[in-house]
Amino acid sequence: MESLEDVARLVKNCTDCQLHRGRTNAVPGEGNPQADIMFIGEGPGFREDREGRPFVGPAGQLLESLLASIGTNRKEVFIANMVKCRPPDNRNPAPPEIAACGKYLDRQIELINPKLIVTLGRFSLGRFSPGESIMRVRGKARQKDGRTIFPVLHPAAVLRRQELRGIMDEDFQAISRILEDSQQPVSVPPATDLINTEQIDQQPADRPEQLTFMSERNTPVDSPAPIENTVNGPNEAAQSEQLTLF
Ligand code: URA
Ligand code: SF4
Repeated sequence: MESLEDVARLVKNCTDCQLHRGRTNAVPGEGNPQADIMFIGEGPGFREDREGRPFVGPAGQLLESLLASIGTNRKEVFIANMVKCRPPDNRNPAPPEIAACGKYLDRQIELINPKLIVTLGRFSLGRFSPGESIMRVRGKARQKDGRTIFPVLHPAAVLRRQELRGIMDEDFQAISRILEDSQQPVSVPPATDLINTEQIDQQPADRPEQLTFMSERNTPVDSPAPIENTVNGPNEAAQSEQLTLF
C-alpha cells in the first residue's frame, strides 16, 4: 500500500471480513492526502454505502457545519472510518471486523501523517484509548505516537440529543486552537452537568436508521431536554431525512 489510492483500491476489492457481503460500495475515506487533521468515524451508513463516500448522510451534514465553524471543510481535512464497509442494518462493527479492517486505517494514518487525529464517537476512541469513557475524555487532547489525539462525540449522537450540541461546538473550537498551536494541546473542561453521561457512554455512535430507533427507545425518563426538542431544533432537516431512510 504505497499510496492512498492503493489503499482505496485494496479496500474496494477486500473480502477480509464478512462486511464485504452486504456492501454496495466500500468507503475507503477521502480528503486532502496531506491533511493536518484526520477525522475517524465508525463505519459507513446507508447513504455512505450507496455513494462510496464517508459522512454524506445527516451526520455528515452536521460534521460539515462543524468544520465550517472552524474555518475548514471536508476537502482540507481527511475523513475515514474504522470499518470501510457498512455493517448490516447499521449494527455496531464487531471486534473481528474492526481488527480485519485496521490495516487500512493504520496505513492511511501513516501516509497522511496528520498532526491531529479527531476521533468521532466511541469506536474510534477505542482504537487509541481502549476502555475509556467518551464522556470523560471528550474534549481532552492527548499525545500518542507523536501526534495529538482529540476525542469528540459522534455527530450522530449530537443529532440525536440536541443538548450535546454545545459541547460539540466547544470541542470544535478547541480543535481550531490545537491547530493554531499544535505544540500546546488544549483541554476543554467537560460541560456535562445536565447530561446523563452513562446513557451517552452506552450509546453506539451509530448511523441514521439506528439513530431514530435508539432515540425512541432510549430517551431517559428524567432527561433534562426531552427528545421532542431535537425534532424542532436546528437539525430538523437532518432529522426528517433520517426518518425517510427506514
Ligand atoms: N457515521 C460514521 O461513523 N461514518 C460515516 O461515514 C457516516 C456516518
Ligand atoms: Fe475488508 Fe474492511 Fe470491508 Fe471488512 S470492512 S471487507 S476488512 S474493507
